[in-house]
Amino acid sequence: MTWWRRVREIDVRVVAPILGLERRGRSWGPCPGCGAEKRSRSDRRAPVSIRDDGAVFRCWCCDAAGTSLDLVCIRLAGERWRPGVECVEEWFADHGFLDGDARVATPPRVARPAPLRRVPRAELASMWDASTSRALPADVLGFLSSRTDLAAHGLSMADEVALARLDVVRALPDRRCYQWPEWWPARWASIYRLAILCFDARGEAAGLHARAVRATKNGKTRWCRGYAASRLLMPGIGGLDLLRGCDVPMHAGVWICEGVTDVLAASIVALQLQIPAVVLGAASGGFQALADVRWPRAILRGDVAVYIRSDDDEAGNRYAEQAHRALYPLGIAARRAPWETT
Ligand SMILES: [Zn+2]
Repeated sequence: MTWWRRVREIDVRVVAPILGLERRGRSWGPCPGCGAEKRSRSDRRAPVSIRDDGAVFRCWCCDAAGTSLDLVCIRLAGERWRPGVECVEEWFADHGFLDGDARVATPPRVARPAPLRRVPRAELASMWDASTSRALPADVLGFLSSRTDLAAHGLSMADEVALARLDVVRALPDRRCYQWPEWWPARWASIYRLAILCFDARGEAAGLHARAVRATKNGKTRWCRGYAASRLLMPGIGGLDLLRGCDVPMHAGVWICEGVTDVLAASIVALQLQIPAVVLGAASGGFQALADVRWPRAILRGDVAVYIRSDDDEAGNRYAEQAHRALYPLGIAARRAPWETT
């Protein structure tokens, strides 16, 4: 088989990033033919679509289309492939696509991350159902009362009415009346009691994160033991509706917070001061999930702002950067507004 018959079988998604195209949501850009960054003034999606099997692409602006061979040819020579166009074979050789038959006969695939191992859904639901946001036990309320997060707003973290209404955090069940799963050892039960249910970007419950309610030398928080905690989001007020694509008031923006107590604090502020904001939290490794959220049009258009409210310290800066990196390719320019500044 001639070299060009072989390279045109290569997955377009393998070749596109080498040519400088970046993925934004389901589309790619800029177009190597016309240079467009977006489809039109009103449609901010990237201009190039690649078919799900990776065989062909098309630009919605200039109608350039074809296989990976055409994509490279358009970039190098400004036209679709026809035998005789120079440099194209060299390009594929330079990038290792012509090293032996095997390489090209089985086109390199985009390395998909292995699926993350998540807690069995039924076990997670059972534990969360056995937890409560009403009549919280004394140690949990004591911990929340000791926090001064909301003092400047004249609000309390231990506002029991707000906690019940929000139902964002719950106290894990009493160790005497619950069969603890192996992923949440009973010895954690008396320390890591203030829990938040965590979700993947599509709004499926996929993990639990809990904060110690008394001093411990073993770290302030816990995740389900033996399961992936990355790419998980902690929805605060309105957060789950947003992940699930439901309408939710958000004129005051989406607030991206760091950690469970900040998610709770921000949610109490939004609830009690009647601020139409949506709160989404994450911890280290979770902010990447922001790239997979089905953001509503109002946010993609820039009509609703996204604020990154991570702490004003080194870790907070790192989280802000992660969030920014996840959002920027989608055309979302998030603004930094550390929690302390409000
Ligand atoms: Zn184009």
